Order: sequence, then structure tokens, then C-alpha cells
Amino acid sequence: MRDFTEGEHTIPCMRWQHRHSAFTVHQLPALRDNYIYLIQPHGRKLCIVIDPAEAAVVSAACRDLDLTPAFIINTHHHWDHTDGNRALKRAFGCKIIGHAPDAERIPAIDLRVPTESPLSVLGLEMRLLDVPGHTLGHMAIVLDDALFPGDTLFGAGCGRIFEGTYEQMWHSLSRLAALPGDSKIYCAHEYTLANLRFAARIDRDNPVLNARTKQAKALRKEGRPTIPSTIQLERETNPFLRPLDPVFRQAYARQHQVADNPLAVFRDIRARKDRA
Ligand code: ZN
Ligand code: FE
Repeated sequence: MRDFTEGEHTIPCMRWQHRHSAFTVHQLPALRDNYIYLIQPHGRKLCIVIDPAEAAVVSAACRDLDLTPAFIINTHHHWDHTDGNRALKRAFGCKIIGHAPDAERIPAIDLRVPTESPLSVLGLEMRLLDVPGHTLGHMAIVLDDALFPGDTLFGAGCGRIFEGTYEQMWHSLSRLAALPGDSKIYCAHEYTLANLRFAARIDRDNPVLNARTKQAKALRKEGRPTIPSTIQLERETNPFLRPLDPVFRQAYARQHQVADNPLAVFRDIRARKDRA
């Protein structure tokens, strides 16, 4: 397997099997800290590319894996998720799928899809969820026990609220948090260590968080990804999902003098992170 270079560190292209499902996820590091994902239906030489930050990374991986990109799905319009669209379409003739309301901002879009209704791509049944907040047109992809949340949910973090409101982002995160606990989260950035440093400041006595930090540091030291994470782990350690836990919420609300409700606590934590 070819290795991809990130700065001085060499991060391998990882392969994640979904045993009870009909696909494999290939995780490709790109740019400084992005991940591009290839979803390969078992027994096929075709794949779906999620958020191609860089065409060259996808082309090289597909050559090594003997795969042809047949579709691209963009979770949102930002350049670090769509920059490879045009070159990959030219090279492979793949079709580009994006959220219909955001079609104007998705480069070279072919298929304008609605969220909240099932979509079948290369025989894989997926659900697209409307998750505004980071951008207004942001969508998340659910494929069996795999979640591709783009820049909505990160390892121990969440995306910055660029276009939506706190209410929208909180609603989006709550929906993702309600997915089955063992769902694997393939987010679009490796931000986990920095996020965990922030989490430790507001959630000091959380043993699960401390164990996660230890493990994440060890993984990064070896040049391995901390992603995928799971919904269960995020519920227990992600500061932006912790407002769902009434014990955490009450303690936080008292300490920081905000209202004891999930949105108020989320808003305060998100604003605090923006200032950090
Ligand atoms: Zn983004
Ligand atoms: Fe991004």
C-alpha cells in the first residue's frame, strides 16, 4: 500500500472493513489535515469519493487500489472538500452529487439531490441528512453503520458556525448524536488532539475523556489517524455533545452562569472555543 506524506510525517492510507455491510472505506490523508474517503462496494472496481480535497491524492490511491471513481459526493461547498471535483470528473468521467439547495456552490455538480430521502449509489443505500450550521447547505451521509459528517462533527469537536445559527448547529449535532452508538464517524479533518486539549479545560473530571486523550496521543505519535471515532465515544467525550448529559449540563450551567438547557450550554461552549 502506498503511503501519503503529510509534512514530515508519513500517514498510511487506511482501509476500514465494515464486516456486516457490503463496502470498504479507504481513508486518504490530504492537504494538511483533511481526510478524503473512498467507499468501495465489495466485489466492485468502482468507488464513491467523499469530499475530494485534492484530485492527485484520489488519482494515486485509485491507481494503487485498482479502483475507478464513479461518483463524488460533496458534504458542503468549501474548497477543501470540492477542489478535486473538476479534475476527477475530467479524468474519470465521474458524476458529482451535491445538495440541491447548494447546487450553485458545488463545482461541476451533475446530480442535485434532496436530503432526507434514501439514495442508492453503486447499489449502496444511503441516507443524506440535512445538517446546517457550518454551512447552510451542509449534508451528512449515513451508510449502514458509517457516518460521513463532513465538517459538522469532528473527533471531540464540531465545525465552526460560519453560515447557520447556534440553534441549527445544535439541532444538526443532536441528530448525529442520536445515531446508533457503534456507528463509525469518518469526519473530514484530523483535529482530534487540538479538540481534546480544549475538551480537557471544560470537562476535567471525565475519565473517558482522559483515556481517549492518552490513546489519541499514542496514535498520532505513530502517525496513525484518530478517525474513525464512534458516536458512543463522541457522546461521552465531545464537549459539543456533552450538553446532552444532564449531570454535565447542570454542573457547567452553574459554573459558567448560563441557563441549564442544552442549547444555552452548547452556545457557551462553542463561543468559548471560538475565543480560545
Ligand atoms: Zn468546511
Ligand atoms: Fe473542511
